[in-house]
Amino acid sequence: MVGLVSCTTLRDHGQDVHTVKVAEELIKRDILVLSLGCGNAALQVAGLCSPEAVHKAGPGLQEVCKALGTPPVLSFGTCTDTGRLADLICMVSEALGGVPVPDLPMAACAPEYMEQKATIDAIFALAFGLYTYVNPVPPVTGAPNLVKLLTEDIRGITGGLLNVERDAVKAAEGIHQHIEAKRKGLGL
Ligand code: SF4
Repeated sequence: MVGLVSCTTLRDHGQDVHTVKVAEELIKRDILVLSLGCGNAALQVAGLCSPEAVHKAGPGLQEVCKALGTPPVLSFGTCTDTGRLADLICMVSEALGGVPVPDLPMAACAPEYMEQKATIDAIFALAFGLYTYVNPVPPVTGAPNLVKLLTEDIRGITGGLLNVERDAVKAAEGIHQHIEAKRKGLGL
């Protein structure tokens, strides 16, 4: 499962193009997407929040969606509803017997972040212990110690990790590998 919290930005791609592409690549890899923020509207317009979009999902996610009659991308609210997402993650953790958040097969994703609330969402996700994908490249590259903290050292502090990637397929593949590793760790 991925919590996708997105604004929309023209910095690297056309409006909403990267958000839609990342969501499509995730569901293709059997990853359920919970969508929040302004980018959620893009996923609705693209039809991904409709049950008819089930054919775009991988076979495993298709099976779940068909059994429940749900779409592969669930509209989950605004970018300030991340507290609900955190509650859901805690419920999943408890259902699995108290698995720590960094060990869950989940990730946070902000394919077109633009504004400060989305930035805080990403910092929250990292503090919460989640693998966190963001695009475009944050304007922190002039601070090498901060880059090292966010992309390397934070794993040993909170369990989270920041991944930055402009290519949607590579971004989805990175998330997929993270989730599969965590599934393997839990024997799922
Ligand atoms: S931070 Fe602003 S632009 Fe981004 S999703 Fe939230 S309300 Fe929309």
